[in-house]
Amino acid sequence: MPAVPLLDSVWLVGSGTHPDVLTDPHDCHCYLVWDGTGGVLVDTGTGLGADAWLAAVAEVCDPARLAGAVVTHYHADHAGGAAAARAAGLPILASAETAAALATGDETRTSLAAARAAGVYPPDYRLSPATVDRVLGDGDTVDAGGLRIEIVAAPGHCDGHLVVLVRRAGRTILLSGDCLFAGGRVSIQAIHDCRLDRYAETVIALADREVDVLLPGHGDPVLRDARAGIGSAAESFRRLVPPPNLLSA
Ligand SMILES: [Zn+2]
Repeated sequence: MPAVPLLDSVWLVGSGTHPDVLTDPHDCHCYLVWDGTGGVLVDTGTGLGADAWLAAVAEVCDPARLAGAVVTHYHADHAGGAAAARAAGLPILASAETAAALATGDETRTSLAAARAAGVYPPDYRLSPATVDRVLGDGDTVDAGGLRIEIVAAPGHCDGHLVVLVRRAGRTILLSGDCLFAGGRVSIQAIHDCRLDRYAETVIALADREVDVLLPGHGDPVLRDARAGIGSAAESFRRLVPPPNLLSA
């Protein structure tokens, strides 16, 4: 399966929807950031398509040269492949909350049990436990080749959510997981740890980051002027109104 180049130094290597890199229908988008000397994977899908995205990564670089796989949050479509990534030799980098949930494959904390009951995942799907090798927090940086990779805490969609900021060729790239999407959309779900007040703080702070490129966990990438959509989401939250939701009834 081919890796899909999106930008200088960024490839889509896994997805539940992109026809050229469809690893499993339940997967989020998985991105490879690689500058020729180092890089990271951002998100690992459910694990159901892990062989396919590992092959896509290997098309671009030697996976052993990556600093690791950053897992933005513990939902199964992003974190379920962490065990497979680690088995392939990638260190797992994630928040303390994600580390705690993945250590036991906690299906309550990650809302997998609820999502499976709602039909979002196959009945026999389970979250594979995984060890997190490095716990990341707000403001941490990850050294990978010549890349400047910054971690930003971004709770709201769920607890322990992180986003990844990369400066490359004069542009600021935001790998947003399930925090922000094209068109200033957000992902609000009726789950125990979706917190609108935290979500508002997160998005309002990200709007100050002057993001050029938005690479979300689902849906279309925004390859230029991404700050417009992020700004509209922030403005909505400032008016105490949740922005448009990625998910619909
Ligand atoms: Zn999520």
